[in-house]
Amino acid sequence: MRGTGWKLLDNPITRAMASPLSVDDYLTQFNPLWSVAEVRGRIERVERETADAVTLHITPNGHWQGHRAGQHLVLGVEIEGVRHSRCFSISSAPADAGITVSVKRNGQGLVSNYLVDQARAGEILHLSQARGEFLLPEGNGPLLMISGGSGITPLMAMLRQCVREGQQRDVVFLHYSNSYIDTLFRAELRALAERFEWLTLIQVVNEGAPLAGDRRGLFSAEQLVELVPDYAARTPLLCGPPALMERVNAAFERAGLATPAQEQFQVKVSSAAGEGVVLFSKSGREAAGDSAGSLLELAEQQGLNPESGCRMGICHACKCHVSEGRVRDLRNGEVRDVKDEDIQLCVHAAAGAVQVEL
Ligand SMILES: Cc1cc2nc3c(=O)[nH]c(=O)nc-3n(C[C@H](O)[C@H](O)[C@H](O)COP(=O)(O)OP(=O)(O)OC[C@H]3O[C@@H](n4cnc5c(N)ncnc54)[C@H](O)[C@@H]3O)c2cc1C
Repeated sequence: MRGTGWKLLDNPITRAMASPLSVDDYLTQFNPLWSVAEVRGRIERVERETADAVTLHITPNGHWQGHRAGQHLVLGVEIEGVRHSRCFSISSAPADAGITVSVKRNGQGLVSNYLVDQARAGEILHLSQARGEFLLPEGNGPLLMISGGSGITPLMAMLRQCVREGQQRDVVFLHYSNSYIDTLFRAELRALAERFEWLTLIQVVNEGAPLAGDRRGLFSAEQLVELVPDYAARTPLLCGPPALMERVNAAFERAGLATPAQEQFQVKVSSAAGEGVVLFSKSGREAAGDSAGSLLELAEQQGLNPESGCRMGICHACKCHVSEGRVRDLRNGEVRDVKDEDIQLCVHAAAGAVQVEL
């Protein structure tokens, strides 16, 4: 049954018959991928990419509506009985069977470490639809893809799309990583660069001797001019750690060029506590704003379970209606009054009384 077929089960009669459980609770007994409305995916295979990274090959259920190369999804996984959600770019091309996400260990991070060390074939994941505006530019113009570390994933999806569609597009792929052995998709990238004349692969590594054409060190404007002399004539696309992205953006600005289209994996968000009293109007719960940082953390502390994704203002999964109140943007400290507005709970704290529809 496709997505719309399941919706027939989502009506007041079946809901009443299922109560106190949900219709999904019954469907899950037959097949954990089944749901009346939720996108779920089964891990078919876990492919080790490097010591610190894996690619999960996922078959989504019938609610999945497909993706465009460069987009991401919110992936929810149960760890010790609690569901945790994070954003991951889809690393496969839209034409591929199933989808892949490629995850790199992030310090002591909870979800990345779990997926790299413990994700197994057969495990069920909770997924959002694909979202995001970081996309392969239309047309056939020359491209400059600049990536660092796990930031290679959305660009790999775009490159794979060029290959699958036989686009023969002039692409310079400039990738920064600690070492060759640490590089996601290294073997595939090299094979593609050897096979297709339209693709130039340049790697910059921090450790070890660079191969011919590659470099050692960090990004600099001088290095960009040397490695890609015609960079100003290419459409630039950028994804990587904040330090790399800052340097690349600064180099483009200094050259009088527009900064590249880009996807951020990390944003600095203050963890400063809120103030005032927050009323979660649908559940009738009330909490002191200073007992947590963001409104999302405060809601979770109250036992509420709002949808969330990146937890840093990128994915918009936690947007929620605020009837009225005074909030602080945790990205820039700005305080403002809000009335009947949808705001991202993960990057706003209370800065006075706030009424959230949760
Ligand atoms: C649009 C988008 C796409 C993305 N795509 C990808 C992708 O394709 N591949 C990928 O690998 N990642 C991707 N990410 C990043 C991913 O969403 C997660 O942010 C990342 O995996 C870290 O999540 P985590 O649960 O492991 O870390 P969290 O538990 O959320 O921790 C975040 C950071 O805090 C640190 N930390 C946590 N607890 C402590 C502590 N007690 N003391 C000190 N430090 C601590 C961790 O070391 C970690 O660096 C993407 C992010 C976005 C927004």
